Amino acid sequence: MFCPGCKTEYREGFSVCADCNIGLVDELPSEPFSEYVEYEEIMVTYNPADVAIIKSILDAEEITYFFHGENFMHVRPLVEPARLMVDKEEAQDARELLRDLNLSIMGINLGQDDDKD
Ligand SMILES: [Zn+2]
Repeated sequence: MFCPGCKTEYREGFSVCADCNIGLVDELPSEPFSEYVEYEEIMVTYNPADVAIIKSILDAEEITYFFHGENFMHVRPLVEPARLMVDKEEAQDARELLRDLNLSIMGINLGQDDDKD
């Protein structure tokens, strides 16, 4: 059992977190920032339409990714770009998928690969 608030794990028999006073759950919901996954920024975009296209492509290929700053975009577009963060192990696949696109992306940095592998 886990507390969804503070992430503390409890033994069976507990149903409420002693610290947060909220009900425990069997499993914590998965989160974008997992300690088991290293993310790599592979591109940035100021265009919400590009974000939608990229999402559909990466979803179809089951790439592990998220957009950092996406929510901020909806509030103040063109102020803060959305940064595409991809699981390091899938970053190369994602680059190749996105390389074929003709997106109106500003500040695109596909192909600048500093990785040794
Ligand atoms: Zn708690």
